[in-house]
Amino acid sequence: TSLDSTPVENLTKSAAGQETGSPLVELRHVDKYFGDLHVLKDINLSVAKGEVLVIIGPSGSGKSTLCRTINRLESIDSGEILIDGQPLPQEGKKLTKLRAEVGMVFQSFNLFSHKTILDNVTLAPRKVRGTFKADAEKEGLELLSRVGVDTQASKLPVQLSGGQQQRVAIARSLAMHPKVMLFDEPTSALDPEMINEVLDVMVNLAKEGMTMIVVTHEMGFARQAANRVVFMADGEILEEGTPEEFFEHPTSERARDFLGKIL
Ligand code: ADP
Ligand code: MG
Repeated sequence: TSLDSTPVENLTKSAAGQETGSPLVELRHVDKYFGDLHVLKDINLSVAKGEVLVIIGPSGSGKSTLCRTINRLESIDSGEILIDGQPLPQEGKKLTKLRAEVGMVFQSFNLFSHKTILDNVTLAPRKVRGTFKADAEKEGLELLSRVGVDTQASKLPVQLSGGQQQRVAIARSLAMHPKVMLFDEPTSALDPEMINEVLDVMVNLAKEGMTMIVVTHEMGFARQAANRVVFMADGEILEEGTPEEFFEHPTSERARDFLGKIL
């Protein structure tokens, strides 16, 4: 399949390389505890507009928690997080607006099971942004077409395959016109034959210049679409580099050990 082929130079890389402005997402000295458990330890990370960052690391290392702090599904104990130069709002209307700007796709697709595919994609624009039904549906169908499931628009989620449902979940996030998209192991709940159809949609998004933070162990995706790979273990960022640097020459023992297990 396309993702197993040799890495290709893509549009995102040159786009991100030219970027000189302030980062779109910035974490400064972020610490997070769950009780006594120190899950994020002095995390410093910045993601430029148009950049695709892949986060990789063993289970329990804090990858999901890191993603969840970025749209404030989790609070942090110290440090700061800025989106497009603005500190994360704590609550209220500003937080609702922030959640719209930071799209998130989870391992479980979380579609509304009693709503049609088209309703799933149009609900948030109508309720949160106040978009008229006809306009939301026109754009909703365009988005569904972009992820290749427009023919399923009037069906219920249960009638779709896992891969199709995850592509709907991506379309649903895009409907809010996010500035950045977070993906937390978006293919790990899928049957193997459906993984590439979801990764292909993500690769296309990357090529179109979307800023993306992607937690995944899919090496093919990282090599093809990522500008940078971050390796996390025990709540810390241990390594950071291009996909080539990281996969060919991991410097830490933890990363070599981890790659040995998954490659
Ligand atoms: P990863 O996504 O890398 O597997 P997580 O961010 O899910 O890691 O978890 C990091 C650590 O925090 C783990 O030890 C996990 O058990 C713990 N953890 C995650 N969520 C909670 C929570 N809501 N309450 C307490 N501990 C949690
Ligand atoms: Mg996780």
